[in-house]
Amino acid sequence: MRIGIPREIVPGENRVAATPTTVAAIRKLGYDIAVEHHAGDNASLPDDAYEKAGATLTDSTTVWGSDIVLAVNEPSDEQIGLMQRGAILVTFLHPRQDLELTQKLQAAGITGMSMDMVPRISRAQSMDALSSMANISGYRAVVEAAHAYGRTFGGQVTAAGKVPPAKVFVIGTGVAGLAALGAANSMGAEVYATDVRPETAEQVQSMGATFLHVRQSDAGGDQGVSSDGYAKETSDDYNARAAELYLEQAGKDDVIITTAAIPGKPSPKLITADMVAAMKPGSVIVDLAALGGGNCELTRPGEKYVTDNGVTIIGYIDLPSRLAGQSSQLYGTNLVNLLKLVTPDKDGQIVLDMDDEVVRTMTVCKDGELLYPPPPVQVA
Ligand code: NAD
Repeated sequence: MRIGIPREIVPGENRVAATPTTVAAIRKLGYDIAVEHHAGDNASLPDDAYEKAGATLTDSTTVWGSDIVLAVNEPSDEQIGLMQRGAILVTFLHPRQDLELTQKLQAAGITGMSMDMVPRISRAQSMDALSSMANISGYRAVVEAAHAYGRTFGGQVTAAGKVPPAKVFVIGTGVAGLAALGAANSMGAEVYATDVRPETAEQVQSMGATFLHVRQSDAGGDQGVSSDGYAKETSDDYNARAAELYLEQAGKDDVIITTAAIPGKPSPKLITADMVAAMKPGSVIVDLAALGGGNCELTRPGEKYVTDNGVTIIGYIDLPSRLAGQSSQLYGTNLVNLLKLVTPDKDGQIVLDMDDEVVRTMTVCKDGELLYPPPPVQVA
């Protein structure tokens, strides 16, 4: 079977779904690979490197006409129109946010496998593209914050005086939050973090940061995770107690990085305009939940701007694309791991075993049938 790797056409997208390294790995599974001309240019992956790895360089029509297409973004109507009935498209389809796209694939007889639907079970970790991208986003958030902040992160004692370390506060210590606090810590900042899941305190401390607990409720029990392993919405009571902590921190922190996202739902508003007003001029907020509207009331998704009181608010939604070489490598490896699962005989023939819960959960439409939402997966 032939696998197609398109050049991504969404403006600002620098990633690509395969690198020369992953092309070689896919070839070992028995597939032919057609890569669109210049697909890797923006990730510093030139055409000749793909050719050396065993790919055929070709045009968009041939790529989208392949048996299997591996992509990064949602396809355009025109790209869907180039696909064959019965072909398989593996990309981020976001069925939770945009079921209409899945329905279009269903109507076109295309099998859709959504990389944002990989279940959160140990066996699927090597295919978990959301985590791969969250890891990069967390790191890049710190790079962006350091760039916007007009001082060093690390404390210094110099002949010209003593410089205190920057105080960085991370809200949400999942994959992105832990990557952010690790990066900020390694740059010498004094790092604080909190999460609705108090059990993350140990991980935070083991990475050299201080966990700040939200004041306990008299009623007890702040469990913030649903059965599928994703965060769920917090109660008004929890939000009010958390707001006390955020307001107190706002006056002290130089950088706040927020990462609290609820899949398929608007991001919870954690940092209010009052809290931003309490921040020092020159301080920075990086809002990793900007795609869902943002954790900060004043975030403008996709933008960076400075408020009237001198706080830079960064709401970029393309952080993985800003480290395109690495993101492409990690995402491409997630796809190779998926292909290994669905190519049991390494003979270039895909076998979708719908009794496998990873395959079933990711497959959102097949043979003209809508398969979203999948049956619930219980996280071990
Ligand atoms: P996420 O993107 O769903 O959320 C980010 C973080 O924000 C989470 O830690 C969440 O608890 C926190 N959060 C959500 N709402 C909040 C609020 N109102 N206030 C404060 N914090 C809030 O999380 P994630 O990074 O994808 O990972 C969450 C957990 O799932 C981690 O422990 C991770 O290791 C685990 N995980 C497991 C697998 C797997 O087993 N395959 C895959 C991915 C993640």
